[in-house]
Parts: sequence; C-alpha cells; structure tokens
Amino acid sequence: MAAMIQKPRGTLDVLPERAKVWQHIEKTLRSVAEKYGFGEIRFPTFENVDLFQRGVGDTTDVVQKEMYLLEQKGTGEARYALRPEGTAGVVRSIIENGKCSDAMPLRYYYLANMFRYEKPQAGRFREFTQFGVELFGSDSALADASVISMGNEILEKLGIRDRLLHINSIGCPNCRPKYQEALVSYFQGRESELCETCRERLKKNPLRILDCKSPICSSIAAGAPKTVDSLCDDCRQHLSTLLSALDDSGISYELDPGIVRGLDYYTRTVFEFLCPITGAAQSTVCGGGRYDGLVRELGGPSLSGIGFAIGINRLIDAMEKSGVNPPEETRPLLYIASMGQEAAMRAFQIASRFRAEDKWAESDLVGRSLKAQMKYADKIRASYTLILGEEELRSGIAQLKNMETGEQVAVELATFSL
Ligand code: ATP
Ligand code: MG
Repeated sequence: MAAMIQKPRGTLDVLPERAKVWQHIEKTLRSVAEKYGFGEIRFPTFENVDLFQRGVGDTTDVVQKEMYLLEQKGTGEARYALRPEGTAGVVRSIIENGKCSDAMPLRYYYLANMFRYEKPQAGRFREFTQFGVELFGSDSALADASVISMGNEILEKLGIRDRLLHINSIGCPNCRPKYQEALVSYFQGRESELCETCRERLKKNPLRILDCKSPICSSIAAGAPKTVDSLCDDCRQHLSTLLSALDDSGISYELDPGIVRGLDYYTRTVFEFLCPITGAAQSTVCGGGRYDGLVRELGGPSLSGIGFAIGINRLIDAMEKSGVNPPEETRPLLYIASMGQEAAMRAFQIASRFRAEDKWAESDLVGRSLKAQMKYADKIRASYTLILGEEELRSGIAQLKNMETGEQVAVELATFSL
C-alpha cells in the first residue's frame, strides 16, 4: 500500500454526521442575519498583503506572526496573503463595488474560512470558519445595540445559555491620546516585568498589552488605567445609550476594562461573548467592535462601521459543553431490496422515480445478498422497505413494509407513492 498522506496540522475534516451540525448552525446564522436586514457577501480567500497590513494593522499578532503569505511567482516576494479575518476584505469589496454611496446602513454577513499560522490546540486552528457581520454608515449606539443583540440571539437560539457578554469602550481619536499617555506611563513603571512582545508593544501599540495572554502581563494589566475613565463626553454618552438599549432588551452584560482592540481605527464599543469551552484562553466565541476609521483607512469615504465575528469551531465546542443535542438525523424514506439483475434494474427505476419527487430512496449498488440488503436497510434506518423478486416483477405487485410498525401492504410497483 502507498504511504498515507495526512491533513495539514491545525486543519479539520468534517464528515457527513458532523456536517449536519454545521448545517444546522449555518441555517440558524443565516436566518437570524436576514431578519436583522443583513445580506450575504462572498469575497476572495486571498487578497493583497497590503490590505491586511493596513486593514488589520501592522503591529497586530495576526499580521506580524499569523499570516499565510503567498509568493508572487518568480519574484520571491509575498504579494498576497490568505485572509486571516473578514472585515478588511468586506471593506475593500464595498469600496471597490461603489457601495459607499448606497442608502445607509449597509449590512453584510459572511460565512468564510480564515487562515492563521497559530499553534494548533483546542479551539485554535490554522484554518477555521467565521461567521461575521458588518454594519456601515451608522454612528448611533443603537447600531451597536442591534449588532450585539444579534450575536446574543444567535447564541441563545443555538442553546448556549451560559454566555457572558463583556463590553468596553476604548474611546475615539479625541480622548484616546490622553488615555494612551496614562497607559504608557503606567507600563513604563513596570517595563522590566513585561514579556518581550509587550515591551515591543509599549513602543508601538501600548493598548495591545491589555490583550496579552501571559499571566504576568495580564496581572500587571489588571492595575492599568481604564479606558472608560478617560472617555470624552461624546464617547461616554455613546456608551451609556448602548447600555440602556441593552438593559431595555433584557441583555445582561459586564463592563470589562480588559477588552481592547489595539488598532487606531477601532473606536468606542468593543465586546466579546465568552462561553464555556475547552481551554480557558479560547473561551471567546464572538468578538467585535466599532471601527469608525477603517473604511477611510482603506481608501474609502469616512464611513463608520461596527461588526463581530463568531468562530464556528468554538461555537460547536460551546454547544457540546452546554449539552445541546445534535439535530435529528435524516433517514431514507424507502429502501428497495432486489434479487437478480432484472429486479435490481427495476429497483433502480423505482428509486429514481422517488428521487424525481424529491424523496430519499435507495436500491442496492454493491450486489449484496437479499439478507444483507435487509440488514443494510435496518442499518440506514429506512422508514419503508420493498422486496423485488421474480414473482413481484411478473405480477407488478410487491409488499411494502413499514419498518417501524412491521405492517405490510401490497402496492403496485408502477404507481405506488409515499
Ligand atoms: P484569540 O484571542 O482567541 O486569539 P482573536 O482575538 O484572535 O481570538 P478575532 O480575530 O477577534 O479572534 O476572531 C473572532 C473569533 O474567531 C474568535 O472569537 C474565535 O471564536 C475565532 N477564532 C480566532 N482565531 C481562531 C483560531 N485560530 N481557531 C479557531 N477559531 C478562531
Ligand atoms: Mg488570536
């Protein structure tokens, strides 16, 4: 036998039984999204490297360490990258397709695979699927509230009761600089204790330190000045409107100063839904926020935006931990067993007739004995079976058996239906 080839590390095979769970989730996601007025957008799996450098940020881990670069043939240079996230691609697409002058708000959702060069572990893959939503053209805190309540409804509908919504506001270009100063001076006092990456972040993107997963950095970060304490009046008002809208909708949340998005064009609202899943560091199933500077940063007009992304792999994990039952398996309506070549041909014709009526019917394709065919019909849990032999072909009549009750009725092969 030839040597076996295995899938790349950090990737996933989904076989039909599991795919049912995926389909159930996808159906739920699409129906909730459409109810909130979001339409599906599909965009390339790879894009110009520059798009992610500008759209995600040069100093983020995603761009610095986790991006899969594609070499431009013959040049040895990385011109494209596999998408590590969806927002940058969506923004490029709406600008390129002239959508920024349409009636606002623009609302898009995507279900797409993302690629990140990460250390594979529970809840952390190198290829994973995200469901994301992006709403453009509204500064209102009610847009934030509608996006958050959509995320909340999705988790509720999928049976994840034990979810925690953490919210923070990271301010805007007006109030951020003052905060940043306070933050830098706090961390400078404890610079020698920070991890190497965070010492680098202190110079380039200090907000990002609040996001570090190392235990020492996060314990130092716990005592850092909080963004909410230095918000300008507009940002404070925006946050308070959002929180009252959530209160009115009965959505509970926790203000969490530790949540940040360390990019210049992320503004005001940032949030995460935490769910019970394998591996504490991977408990964020949904992460999102407002990015009022991004469309402009990518060459479009000044258009605000807010969105989130849910990791489907983590969502499934959370559903399992929450004891959600997988959707009921579908099963064939009819299995037609046959003896001999001629009967097999007739069985095939009847199965075709059923499928033409959009009904799931099967006949033997592997030349099993009659006994083995009946065993197989049991195994696939066919609701009805029919046995065709010489006698049945001659008379055109056969016994249709209800596999649940054992009841049998004579049916005409040419015309019977279920
Ligand atoms: P983390 O802090 O866990 O690395 P992140 O901040 O990198 O997450 P985002 O870029 O905000 O994640 O992506 C949104 C969601 O996508 C995450 O909340 C998570 O559910 C999912 N996700 C991110 N990276 C991975 C991965 N490598 N494997 C599986 N799911 C992922
Ligand atoms: Mg990450």
